[in-house]
Amino acid sequence: MTLYAVFVILSVAVTVFGLPQPRLQTRENLFDFELVTRDQWHARPATITSNLETPVEYVIIHHTYQPGACHTTEQCSSAMRGMQNYHQQANGWGDIGYNFAVGGDGKAYEGRGWNLVGAHTYGFNTQSIGIVLIGDWRFEVPPAEQLEVTKKLIAAGVELGIIRPNYKLIGHRQAGSTECPGGALFDEISTWDRFRPEV
Ligand SMILES: [Zn+2]
Repeated sequence: MTLYAVFVILSVAVTVFGLPQPRLQTRENLFDFELVTRDQWHARPATITSNLETPVEYVIIHHTYQPGACHTTEQCSSAMRGMQNYHQQANGWGDIGYNFAVGGDGKAYEGRGWNLVGAHTYGFNTQSIGIVLIGDWRFEVPPAEQLEVTKKLIAAGVELGIIRPNYKLIGHRQAGSTECPGGALFDEISTWDRFRPEV
């Protein structure tokens, strides 16, 4: 076979089958965010836990309202400890209510995590992953990076098989009488893939 013939065959193959494409979303870039573990934010142990049956149908978005927005890992870790104290001591819950939080420092924070039932949305806890964006988002949208990391965290949950690929994304207010996750953040998530106006 002449070199020319090889060239022709290769050209035809590339035309017919296309060049090999890299996967658009690799596992690496799905996890392209920093996760601050419970140890790292100095969580206290949970006093009661219940296993989450997965994959779940819902991803529910919250804002903290208080504590307000945090901008450094130190501030966000302190916000996590404050919420955990409040949820355990004032509310008498086993742990911080949320499965995850996302801070204004662009990092995700491990709350109850992927495998335990949260306490964030009455009637939906056993069927959802609850993610809180630290801050008061009634009138202001969170910084772009905080929103991006939230999306990456959801994508990671799908990749891990914790969240159904056809999940429903909702705001807390759609499942209870609350302003949460704040009007500005609610308007923002209304534009996201898989947002469902009807619960
Ligand atoms: Zn909420």
